[in-house]
Amino acid sequence: MSPRGWAVLTLAGLGVALVVTALVLVPWQRPPAPRADQLAALRDLPTEQVEHARQFRSALRPGGWAALGVGLLVALALGLTPLGSRLVELAGRPFGGHWIAQAILGGLAVVLVADLVTLPFAAWRHSVLTRYGLATNGWGGWAVDLLKSYAVSAVIGAVALLGFYTVIRLAPRWWWAFGAAGAATLVVLLSFVLPVLVEPVFNRFSPMEPSPLRSQLMELAERDGVPVRDVLVADASRRTRAVNAYVSGLGPTRRVVVYDNLLREATPAEVTAVVAHELGHARDRDVSVGTLTGALGAAAAVVALYLIGSWPPLLRLAGVDSVAQPRAFPLLLALVTVAGLVFTPVQSLMSRRVEARADAHALALTGDPAAFESMQRRLSAVNLSDPDPPRWEYLYSASHPSTVERIAAARAYARKVGR
Ligand SMILES: [Zn+2]
Repeated sequence: MSPRGWAVLTLAGLGVALVVTALVLVPWQRPPAPRADQLAALRDLPTEQVEHARQFRSALRPGGWAALGVGLLVALALGLTPLGSRLVELAGRPFGGHWIAQAILGGLAVVLVADLVTLPFAAWRHSVLTRYGLATNGWGGWAVDLLKSYAVSAVIGAVALLGFYTVIRLAPRWWWAFGAAGAATLVVLLSFVLPVLVEPVFNRFSPMEPSPLRSQLMELAERDGVPVRDVLVADASRRTRAVNAYVSGLGPTRRVVVYDNLLREATPAEVTAVVAHELGHARDRDVSVGTLTGALGAAAAVVALYLIGSWPPLLRLAGVDSVAQPRAFPLLLALVTVAGLVFTPVQSLMSRRVEARADAHALALTGDPAAFESMQRRLSAVNLSDPDPPRWEYLYSASHPSTVERIAAARAYARKVGR
C-alpha cells in the first residue's frame, strides 16, 4: 500500500479513536436543570444587573465576530493565493532562502501577519473591558501581556516548525506519520509544562496563606480523595476584576488555582463551592481527558493536512509544488483556521458537559446548593456575563453552562436531596 493509502487508514483509525474517546469519557448525560427553574432564576436576578451585563456583551459582540471573520479572510488570502508563499520566501531571503530560515522565520512571519490584522479588534475589546471596569491593567499592562504572549507563541511555534520541517526532510514519504506522533507528543508535553513554565510568565502564584478557609479547603480535597498538594493564589487583580478558579497540569504539575479577586470578593462558603467544582475536574481527570482528545486531534490534524493539502487544485491556488515545502505553510495554516472554526461548537459542547459534571460534583461534595447559587450570582455580577445568553452564541462557543442553567441545576439538586 502507498503512503497515501496508509495515511487514509491512519486518519480513519484516529477518527474512530477520537469519537470513541469522546463518547466514553465525556459525560453526555447532564444533571437536570429544568428551563422553568432557569427562568425563575433569571427573574430573581436584579434587572439592572442583567441589563448591564447584556449591554456589555453586546458591546463586545461586533468586534469578536469581526475578528473571527477578518482572521479567517486573511488566513484564506495567505493560504489560497501565492501571497503567503511569497511572504515565506521573503522571510528566508536574507539567509539565501535556506529551508530552516523559510521554515522558522517564514512560518512565524505568516502567523504574525495573521495576528496583527486582528490586533485592532483586540485593542477595541480591551477598551470595552476598561470602559466597563473589568480590565484593571491599563494600556501599558495590556501591551506587555500581548508582547509576552507573542514571545511565548514564537518560542513554541519555532520549535514546532523546526521539528515539523526536519521530519519532512528526514522522511519525505512518511513524514505525516512521524509528524502526527510528534504533534500528539507536543500536546502531552505542553500539558505538563505550560502550568510550570508559561503560566508564571503572566501571573505570580503563591500558596494560599494559612487560614481557617485554607484548612477547610485542604480538608475538602482530602475528603474528596483528590491529591492536591496546594491551593495556589494567582495575582489576577493586576489585570482584571473578574473572579475565577481553574485546575491545570497533569500528575506532579497539577494545581488548583484561585484568583486573588475571588478570595477578596466571595464568602468562604462560596470559595468552597468554587474549589469543590475544581476538585471535581481533578477527580474526573478532566485535564487528562482534554489532553488525550487534544493529542488525538493534533495527530489526526497532521494526517488530514497531508491528505487535503496534497490536493492539486489547492497546491495550484497556493502557488506551490508540494505540501511538504515550507512555502506551503500558509496553506496549512488556512486549513487549520477553517478546521478551528468548524470544530469550535463541538469542543464547546464537550466542555459544557464536563463543566456541568464538575458543578454536580461541587453540589454533592459540599451539600450546600445555597452557597453554590450565591456563587453563581456573584460570578455573573462581577464578570458581567449574560446569565441567559443568546442561544446561537451559547451553542457556538460557550465553554460553561449559563448562569441560569447552573442555578437551575443547584435548585433541582436541592429539591432532590430535600434542602
Ligand atoms: Zn470548571
